[in-house]
Formats: sequence, C-alpha cells, structure tokens
Amino acid sequence: MAKKEKKKKVKKKKGEYYELKEGKLERKKLFCPKCGAGVFMATHKSRAVCGKCGYTEWKTGDKK
Ligand SMILES: [Zn+2]
Repeated sequence: MAKKEKKKKVKKKKGEYYELKEGKLERKKLFCPKCGAGVFMATHKSRAVCGKCGYTEWKTGDKK
C-alpha cells in the first residue's frame, strides 16, 4: 500500500477505547462486525470474541 502524505492533524478523540501506537490509531476494543458498532468484543490474547453472537476474530498481522 502506498503511503500518502497527510496533514498533521491532532485530533483528540473521546474514549478510552483508542490508543495511539506508533502513529497509528489502534483500537483497544473491537466492534462485532455482525452485531454492528456498539457491541464490543471481548479481547483475548490472540482473538476477539463477541459475547452476543459468538463471532470470533483472530488477531493476525502483528508480525511481518
Ligand atoms: Zn456479535
């Protein structure tokens, strides 16, 4: 993916579910793609599980 130059924008977002890591906004908590935004998924060491529908999302791509 090509990197686009972006204007430096300092935006303060409310919420503790986001964390700025290495210049990237990282979500601490995931939303369930099935249940939609608002339904947080329980995050485990290597996966995230929705407590509502049971959808599991594996964490990948951390290593390169
Ligand atoms: Zn769900």
